[in-house]
Amino acid sequence: MKIPPPRSSSANPLDLIDLDSQLTDEEKAIRATVRQACDDLVEPHIMQWYETGDLPARDLAKEFGRIGLLGMHLEGYGCAGMSSVDYGLACVELEASDSGIRSLVSVQGSLAMGAIHMWGSEEQKQEWLPRMAAGDAIGCFGLTEPDIGSDPGAMKTRARRDGDDWILNGAKLWITNGSIADVAVVWANAGEEHGGIRGFVVPTDTPGFAAHVIKHKMSLRASVTSELTLDNVRLPAEAVFPEVRGLKGPLSCLSEARYGILWGALGSARSALETARRYSIERNQFGKPLAGFQLTQAKLASMSTELQLGLLLALHLGRLKDSVGLRPEQVSVGKYNNISKALQICRTARTILGANGVSGEFPIMRHANNLESVLTYEGTHEMHTLVLGQALTGVPAFR
Ligand SMILES: Cc1cc2nc3c(=O)[nH]c(=O)nc-3n(C[C@H](O)[C@H](O)[C@H](O)COP(=O)(O)OP(=O)(O)OC[C@H]3O[C@@H](n4cnc5c(N)ncnc54)[C@H](O)[C@@H]3O)c2cc1C
Repeated sequence: MKIPPPRSSSANPLDLIDLDSQLTDEEKAIRATVRQACDDLVEPHIMQWYETGDLPARDLAKEFGRIGLLGMHLEGYGCAGMSSVDYGLACVELEASDSGIRSLVSVQGSLAMGAIHMWGSEEQKQEWLPRMAAGDAIGCFGLTEPDIGSDPGAMKTRARRDGDDWILNGAKLWITNGSIADVAVVWANAGEEHGGIRGFVVPTDTPGFAAHVIKHKMSLRASVTSELTLDNVRLPAEAVFPEVRGLKGPLSCLSEARYGILWGALGSARSALETARRYSIERNQFGKPLAGFQLTQAKLASMSTELQLGLLLALHLGRLKDSVGLRPEQVSVGKYNNISKALQICRTARTILGANGVSGEFPIMRHANNLESVLTYEGTHEMHTLVLGQALTGVPAFR
C-alpha cells in the first residue's frame, strides 16, 4: 500500500484534526448561516443584554424562526426537518455567542416543541407547532419545582379531574422562557388512577396561570428565567398529552434537549479558546508575547485538545442519533464530558487574559458564568455521573 505523503500544514488553529473534513458541504452551509445570523443579531448586543439581564427574546425568536432554526430537527408542521448533526452545529454557533441565546432556541425547539411533537395530539401539534416554528409563539417547559429538582418523580404540582376538565395547582421554578411564553408544557401528578405524571399544554393566558421573572441571576443573564404558579388552572380534557404517562414523558424530552446542549457548550469553549489564543499572541510581558511562554502553550494545547475531543464525541453521537438513535446513557456521556470540559476550558482561558479575563469586554467570564447553569440544568453533572455509574455497574445509586 502506498503511504500518502504528509499534508502541508495550513492548519486551522481551532481544528487541528480537520474535523471539518467529516462534515458535508450542506452541514457547513447550515453552520455558516447560523454563524452569520449570530454575528448580525446577537454579537453587537450581547454584552449589553447580559449586563442589563434583558433581551428582546420575541424579536430574536421571529428572526430565528425566519431562518428555520426553531424546532429545526423536527419533521412537518412548518419545521425544517434537518438532521441531528445540523441541529448540533447550530447549537455550537448559538452558544459561541451566548448560552442564553442557545437556551432560548433549545427550550423552544427541543423541550416545548419537542414535547408537543413527540407526545401531543394531532390537534395540539396543528395548533402550536407551526406558530412556534415561525417564532410567532414562544413555549416553555415546566418540570422543576421550588422543592423538587433532580427527583422529578416527587413533584408536588397536582392535576385533578373535574368532570371532563383538568384542574392544575402547583408551582414551577427556574423555567426558561416562562414569562415570555404563549404556551407552557407543564408536568403534573394526576394520581395513580390517571397514570401518575402527565403532561399538559397550557396556554399562558389561562386564568390562574402566572409567571414571574427570577432576578439577580449571576449566570445566563441573557435569558428569561421564571417562576410559574398554577392556581386552579382549568383546562379542557384535550389539554393533556393523550398517550404518555409517568416520567418517561419529561425524560424523553430532556434527552432531546441534552443532545443539543452537549454540542452547544463547545461553542462557549471555542469562543473562550479563540479569545485567549489571540490575546496570548498580541500581549507582551517580559519582552515577548504571552504565547511564547511554555506554560501558556501548555494551556492552549490542553484546551484545544479537549475542545476537539468534545467535538469528535458530539459528532459521533450526532451520527449515531441520525442513523440508529441514542440511548439515554449515551447522551449522558456527552453532557458529562462536554459541559465540564467546556467550563474548564473557559476557566483556563480566563487565566491567560489575567485581569482582562474578568472584564465584560471579553466574552470568557460570561461564558464561564453561563456554563455554571448549563452544568446544572437538564440533569446536573452529578445526576449524569450516576446515570453512567448505573450503566457501568447495573447498580443504581440515586437514593
Ligand atoms: C438558568 C436555569 C434555567 C433552567 N431552566 C429550566 C427549565 O426551562 N425547565 C425546568 O423544568 N427546569 C429548568 N431549570 C432547573 C434545572 O433543571 C434544575 O436546577 C436541576 O434539575 C437541578 O435541580 P435543583 O436546582 O433543584 O437541585 P437539587 O436537585 O436540589 O440538587 C442540588 C445538588 O445536589 C445534588 N444531588 C441531588 N440529588 C443527588 C443524589 N441523589 N446524589 C448525588 N447528588 C445529588 C445535585 O446534583 C446538585 O449538585 C433551570 C435551571 C437554571 C439554573
